[in-house]
Amino acid sequence: MKATGTWVRWLAAAGTLLMLTDVALAAAPMQRTQAPGYYRMMLGDFEVTVLSDGTLPFNVHELLTNITPARLDAALARAFLKEPIDFSVNAFLVNTGSKLALIDTGCGAAYGPGVGHLLQSLRAAGYRPEQVDDIYITHMHGDHIGGLLQDGKAAFPNATVHAAQAEAGYWLSEAQMNAKPAAERDGFKAAMTLFKPYVAAQRFQTFSGNVELLPGIRAVAASGHTPGHTMYLVSSKNESLLLWGDLMHVAAAQFPDPAVTIRFDIDSPRAARARIAAFADAAAKGYLVGGAHLSFPGLGHLRAAGPVSSGASNSKEAAGDAPLVSYAYVPVAYAVPAPPSSAPPSRSSH
Ligand SMILES: [Zn+2]
Repeated sequence: MKATGTWVRWLAAAGTLLMLTDVALAAAPMQRTQAPGYYRMMLGDFEVTVLSDGTLPFNVHELLTNITPARLDAALARAFLKEPIDFSVNAFLVNTGSKLALIDTGCGAAYGPGVGHLLQSLRAAGYRPEQVDDIYITHMHGDHIGGLLQDGKAAFPNATVHAAQAEAGYWLSEAQMNAKPAAERDGFKAAMTLFKPYVAAQRFQTFSGNVELLPGIRAVAASGHTPGHTMYLVSSKNESLLLWGDLMHVAAAQFPDPAVTIRFDIDSPRAARARIAAFADAAAKGYLVGGAHLSFPGLGHLRAAGPVSSGASNSKEAAGDAPLVSYAYVPVAYAVPAPPSSAPPSRSSH
């Protein structure tokens, strides 16, 4: 019928129009990238810039130890998280006014496209790699030292790299490496390669114990995760920031129960004791903490939140005789620091 034919043509035309409109709206491809990540804050007279190296997805059911699957399910549900969990990889740049110090260097090129963005973040934050004077390494796992090299060369051509003697004596030792089965030697080989240009240029130094490394930057030993794992306490005026390194990995599980451990630990019971002590200290003293794998920018405060709920496996063993305490973590509130030269804003209206 004629009328039906007209309708069919009209509908077909409208459909084509609709399709064209749809095509135009859908044509812009999704970008699937994140902004270069840096977060700036003042700590007394120091400027601290957290640099995002990116994020790495992990199935934490495969990684966490000393926790039952059901308990971990509940912890993730409480935090609105689903597997895999994105781990931030954060490094910290401290400008003391006379020295530019970098704590850890991110993953470099070895961990895929989600990470390895430290230099991009550093440049976006207004600095250049050649301006870095000193690099302090928390420990020699690849996601903390991978960024030492760029295209096989020292990524920070003027920096001296520092690490605990116990850490260097483990990862940079042929004897230690050869004592391990062949399948466990890759981490040693990677560390030796990454430090090589700095060692060759005599720009690698080790320290022992809780020593001041720069005015306002102090090493705080916290071994367990690795033999020489070190935190760094940054202090200016009356303000302090303790950079934890890998003292903890999974906020959703380890703040409620600090006895929860991770397969990456070389000595898990010792790592748990270090974490329990550091959490208690941070909560008691109220200082700011910075975590390498806490969600970017990885800065916050801890508050003691009562005893760990019953049912945690081995928590008594980790805590010794003291009851194991759970913690609430409060991330920093986003704020833009005042520019250095500006006068304080006038609050009077004339
Ligand atoms: Zn790590």
